[in-house]
Amino acid sequence: MSELIQEILQKEYLEKADLVAMLSAEGEDRQLLFEQAAAVKAAYVGNKVYYRGLIEFSNICGKNCLYCGIRAGNKNTHRYEVEEQEVLDAARYAWENKFGSLVLQSGERSDKAFVDRIEHLLREIKALSNGELGITLSLGEQSEETYHRWFEAGGHRYLLRIEVSNPELYPKYHPHNKKHDYRARLDCLHLLRKVGYQVGSGVMIGLPFQTAEDLADDLMFLREHDIDMVGMGPYIEHEDTPLYKYKDKLLPKQERFDLALKMVASLRIMMKDINIAATTAMQTLDPLGREKAVKVGANIIMPNLTPTRYREDYLLYEDKPCLDEDADECRRCLEARIHMAGGEVGFGEWGDSKHFKKRKESGNS
Ligand code: SAH
Ligand code: SF4
Repeated sequence: MSELIQEILQKEYLEKADLVAMLSAEGEDRQLLFEQAAAVKAAYVGNKVYYRGLIEFSNICGKNCLYCGIRAGNKNTHRYEVEEQEVLDAARYAWENKFGSLVLQSGERSDKAFVDRIEHLLREIKALSNGELGITLSLGEQSEETYHRWFEAGGHRYLLRIEVSNPELYPKYHPHNKKHDYRARLDCLHLLRKVGYQVGSGVMIGLPFQTAEDLADDLMFLREHDIDMVGMGPYIEHEDTPLYKYKDKLLPKQERFDLALKMVASLRIMMKDINIAATTAMQTLDPLGREKAVKVGANIIMPNLTPTRYREDYLLYEDKPCLDEDADECRRCLEARIHMAGGEVGFGEWGDSKHFKKRKESGNS
């Protein structure tokens, strides 16, 4: 088997069967996969890890994704919206501590009050940081006009995971209605590119019914859509969701984590110059999960800057870590962890996707 993996890892273009073999690699093969991913990372994006301070702005959501703990149908969640001054304080903290960028994430809403509020916040954050903080948005599906307004106000990257790239599987994890339509989500990814954002997407790994073939398709989807940045992590069950009833079909947590790690490594080998996040869900399944992801290809980390009093209400899944850590503790802990993983923090830099820059320069944006 090792010879086969060695051969695959040298290929210019990875086919689906190659990706399935990489995702199934064990023992020495798995080690080779990780070493190759680390080498590609060092050669194409270097060992810097960039921070995106995460503000979980609100858990109010109009959708009902079957896997998500803050879905509208979960009546056990106390709903919140972070106050404006608290968002601005968190942004100032990020700026003063040279985080480079922020991520504003929330449940999905598209009413006027919400759209206006985000636009206003973006302008305020830009103003308080002299335009120095980069801003990533992760606020779900919106109209072209909304994407445009937020872009004009200062958002320049947008993360919208496709979640599962196979249109036939999508309805297994989402209600069957217009609000949860695969085609509409895909159209949003195209709109984001058209408006000018650096486009991020990603998937959940280890969902019930998902196979290694499905995950290989997911990787090929990200390549086909020329995605600039990827956030993907393991699916983690949440008791108050419809998908919970399949919990006995899931891979054990350590195996699910390992599969996610192989996805990160395979993606780095396949899309050499994109940005890849070491997600919080990785850390949930393994206390050193983010460090391990950084070693095999990830170069983005999202320290949580959500004011502590809101954190336990933003429970997308069970056992989310760092619910009681304040921003200072989180920053110190992370920096030490990144050093441990052989990385260095790119303080004060935006750390934009090199892939995006290349496409822009070649005039294909
Ligand atoms: N509402 C926005 C952004 C917030 S949700 C959106 O849906 O795009 C951010 C991400 O959390 C989702 O894209 C999904 O991939 C992830 N997520 C939700 N529930 C999860 C779970 N149970 N396990 C792992 N990830 C989950
Ligand atoms: Fe809402 Fe996003 Fe959760 Fe879906 S994944 S229910 S859109 S917060």
